[in-house]
Amino acid sequence: MRRLPIVLLAAVLVVAASAGAAWKVSGSRTIQFFGEHVDRVATTEKVIALTFDDGPDEATDEILALLAERDVAATFYLNGAGMADHPESGPKIVAAGHELGNHTWSHRRMLLVSPSAVADQIEPTDERIRAAGWDGPITFRPPYGKKLFVLPWYLARHDRLTVMWDVSVETFGDTPQSAAEIADATVAAAEPGSIVLLHPWNDRRHVREATGVVIDRLRADGYRFVTVSDLLSGT
Ligand SMILES: [Zn+2]
Repeated sequence: MRRLPIVLLAAVLVVAASAGAAWKVSGSRTIQFFGEHVDRVATTEKVIALTFDDGPDEATDEILALLAERDVAATFYLNGAGMADHPESGPKIVAAGHELGNHTWSHRRMLLVSPSAVADQIEPTDERIRAAGWDGPITFRPPYGKKLFVLPWYLARHDRLTVMWDVSVETFGDTPQSAAEIADATVAAAEPGSIVLLHPWNDRRHVREATGVVIDRLRADGYRFVTVSDLLSGT
């Protein structure tokens, strides 16, 4: 009987380690259990895809203006709920030459979800994206970068590409960063083929400011900016 506690302890450790590993994988940019996913593209060409998560909201015009000023095409991972609240935003973004991607309806954390809950997050958002006029492939980006079993399984079954990122300096940090700090860290981390994630919406004026600086500095360094679809297809 003296062995039992040891066996129990071992079992507890295995379960804890598995849960820890699952948590790690769920937020991994490079590991996914099912389906195709990408976090950057291997290339020596100086191309970068700028991607903007969340929204849309009342900052749409300001973001579009800063991109138009610089003649840059980007990819917007929008929430369906944001498109419903701001129905003019999606069509404006598409008309300006940008790509739309799916970032779920309500930005729900997609762990421990049922297939029907996943469908409820993804399908109506696709409908909004189509109604906004985007007719290219709709890639998917999970809220908080979180995905484990059901979500990737659903995405694989629907032949849906998950697009993560390799550069993101303002996503999960607790410390407030200035526009200059965000710009410096983004420019330092960017490489040929990078997918850069920024959250420029709402009261995040410092991120919008940083976005302009990032574009100007990377362009001065010889980079050009393409949509995710163009990055993936090598055009
Ligand atoms: Zn998000």
